[in-house]
Formats: sequence, structure tokens, C-alpha cells
Amino acid sequence: MPADLAPREAQETAPVDLGSVAHPYDLLVVGGGINGCGIARDAAGRGLSVKLLEMEDLGAATSSASTKLIHGGLRYLEHFKFRLVREALQERDVLLKAMPHIAWLMRFVLPIGPGQRRAGWLLRLGLFVYDRLGGRGSLPGTETLMLAADPSGAALKPEFVKAYEYSDGWVDDARLVILNARDAAANGADVAPRTRLERATRVDGLWRAETSGEQIIFARGLVNAAGPWVADVLNARLGANSAASVRLVRGSHIVVRQVFAHEKSYFLQQPDGRIIFAIPYEGAFTLIGTTDSDHEGPNGAVICTPAERDYLLDAANRYFATAITAEDIVWTYSGVRPLYDDGASSASSATRDYVLEVSDAGVAAPLLSVFGGKITTYRRLAEAALVKLGPFFEDMGPPWTAGTPLPGGNFAA
Ligand SMILES: Cc1cc2nc3c(=O)[nH]c(=O)nc-3n(C[C@H](O)[C@H](O)[C@H](O)COP(=O)(O)OP(=O)(O)OC[C@H]3O[C@@H](n4cnc5c(N)ncnc54)[C@H](O)[C@@H]3O)c2cc1C
Repeated sequence: MPADLAPREAQETAPVDLGSVAHPYDLLVVGGGINGCGIARDAAGRGLSVKLLEMEDLGAATSSASTKLIHGGLRYLEHFKFRLVREALQERDVLLKAMPHIAWLMRFVLPIGPGQRRAGWLLRLGLFVYDRLGGRGSLPGTETLMLAADPSGAALKPEFVKAYEYSDGWVDDARLVILNARDAAANGADVAPRTRLERATRVDGLWRAETSGEQIIFARGLVNAAGPWVADVLNARLGANSAASVRLVRGSHIVVRQVFAHEKSYFLQQPDGRIIFAIPYEGAFTLIGTTDSDHEGPNGAVICTPAERDYLLDAANRYFATAITAEDIVWTYSGVRPLYDDGASSASSATRDYVLEVSDAGVAAPLLSVFGGKITTYRRLAEAALVKLGPFFEDMGPPWTAGTPLPGGNFAA
């Protein structure tokens, strides 16, 4: 029967072969880390048809190997990264309200002691700015602690007499990725884990993509959110010309038997200017991290080296009264930061800000690549990505994710 003679109901329910050349997806997102899943969720909720490809499991790479902090990044203030810190601090409140089941307030104790590089008054000034930069949030402000009178002092060496205590947030990073993917799917996105983008080319104003499952997918736009593989996808799989380059920086953590029994974390300054966190972890453990080491290629082994392990043990032992040894380590994990290469000399001073690049401006099928970023700013990054893609999708809906809880998060903590 010709389609126009079919009963009306049958015409409406006839399946559309979405992803075909006749019915391309609006967006093909490559990478199921926090940035890919965050963009897929936002785009699907604005009415775009979305396909997401993840070559491993969702969140398998950097997005499950972070320090799990929702934070402005106090130390970035000394690099004058005010825009990054302000955006992250504003976002901290938004995220803590949207997902009270997987993220919560954490108080950080910053011990002041002899021989530290930063003067106490400078730290207090930094915290004064940190408390205000993001506007009037709902988190408690900085307090001065006399460590002899506070439970957090008992675990520290006696030379630490005073500390500042400030607020940031903690999140289960892997679950955050999954909840974004779930919500993307609930809004109509087609999420495909264990499916690699092999290659894609522009054909007649569309992207034609081939996957590891030998599927051919057509899409109007492509988002490269491949994290540490962003350059691999750009150069090897898309054959695109990009001036942007990525700097891969590995960060390692050690998980040791519980060093302290209270719920606060520590912010531990190191003689080289770096910061190490010691965080209560899964009840019986303490998470200590992270390092910053340049990392060779996205496919290199992402492991905590003996040098990184020893650095973290020394960093913690500068502060804690009871020595932590390699025998106390129950697990180590590492992740690779896919940072935008801003030419900084050291890995720890390379920018943590994100850069979104639209390649081949003016061409019909857009390609947007994501460099850098933080877990904390993923939702804002997704909004910024859709602003960049807006001219290509004029019917796209308005921003909606601020103030919308993630699945399961619709209650006040
Ligand atoms: C040690 C460390 C600690 C950190 N701590 C914090 C913190 O406390 N707070 C914070 O806010 N941020 C933190 N970050 C930053 C944050 O973790 C990252 O910015 C974020 O996870 C990057 O997410 P992503 O989605 O860009 O990358 P990823 O999570 O790496 O996702 C990219 C995905 O793309 C997939 N992929 C690649 N190529 C293909 C292909 N061809 N086809 C299909 N899929 C492909 C990969 O398998 C991967 O899953 C930390 C980072 C590190 C490394």
C-alpha cells in the first residue's frame, strides 16, 4: 500500500531508521566520559536527536579516575585563573543541589605550619576571595581552627597548631557519568557503550561515521569529546586539521588504610608548591592524591609509578603524626588529564580551563572538539558547546539543565 493510503495510525508509528542518510541524527557524540555524556544529555533535552559512542564502558577513562572534588580550585587563584575559579564556584552550588544522592559538602582543613611557601595571611586572603568569588552560595565559609581543640588536629604532627577550614564538594564521579547518560537516554538519546568511532568523513553536508560494530551512522554534527584521545580522533579518525594541541598530564592517587576517623579532608601544601588532598574514602580508607606528570600518548599504561607513590607517601608524611608506609596502600589509581596545551612549562601549571574548538568554520556539518575541563564544570561546558553549535540547529530548545536534578536527585539533602 502506498504510504499516503496507509491508515493514519500506521503512518505515525512507522519506524524511522534514525542515523540513516534519510534521517540523520542531529548530533553524533564521540566519548562517554563526563563531557560527552553531559553534552548528550543537554542536547537531547533541547530536542536534538543524539547518538553517543563510547569505545569502552561509560566513564571508563579519566572521568572515573578523578580526585572526585566539586571545587573551584583554591590553588588556581595563584595562577590568576579567576574566570575558571568563579565559574567552578558558581557551579559547585548548582551541582550539589542537582544530585544530593551522589555529591555533598566537604570541609577541608588547611594546616598552617613552619617552613611553608605561602604565608598564613596570604592563604587567609585567598580563602576570603574564594568564599566570595562565586557569589553568595549556600556553603559555610572559612573558619580558623586551633588544632588542639579540633578533632582534625589529633591526626597531625604537633608542629601544626593552627589551620583554616573551608568548604568544597565531593562527588561520586563514575555515577555522575552514568546518571548523565541515563538522563540523555530518558530524553531520547541513543547511548552505545563498547562502540568505537573508527572513522568519519563529511559527505554531502552530513557526517558519515563508521563504528567498530561496522555500523554506518549519518549525523548533521559531530562532537569530539574523546578526552585523552581528542587529538587521536581529530587527526587519525576524522583527518581534520586543528591548530589546537592537547597536553596529557597523568595524576595518580593512593588509597591507604584509614589515617583519620572524622569526616573532614585535608589540603596539604608541599614544598614544591603543589597541593595534595587526603580525603575520607569508602568508610575504612583514606584517598591521597594527586600527582602531575606529563604522560606519553593516550594509549600508554595509566598506572601509579613507584616515584609517584613515594611522592604521595612523603607528601602525607610531612603532616600526619603516624607514618604511612607502602604496606598501608590497598589500591592505586591514575587518570590522564586531556589539557589544552597553553605552553605552560610545568604540568601542574598547565590550564585546567576548557577550550571548545569548532573546526572548518563555515562548513555545513560542524565538528566541535572539547579540550580540557573539570568534572566540576562539565554542565557549563555542555551549555557552552551548545551555544557554539546553536547556529547549526536553529530549532534547538533553550538551556534547561541548571536547576534540573539528575535522576534520583529530586530531594533536598
Ligand atoms: C588525576 C585527576 C584528578 C582529577 N580531579 C578532578 C577533581 O577533583 N575535580 C574536577 O572537577 N575535575 C578533576 N579532574 C578533571 C576531570 O576528571 C576531567 O576533566 C574529566 O573527567 C574529563 O572528562 P572527558 O569526558 O573529557 O574525558 P574522559 O572521561 O577520558 O572520556 C573520554 C572518553 O572517550 C572515549 N573514546 C576515546 N576515543 C574514542 C573513540 N574513537 N570512539 C568512542 N569512544 C572513544 C574514551 O574511552 C573515554 O571514555 C581530574 C583529572 C585527573 C586526571
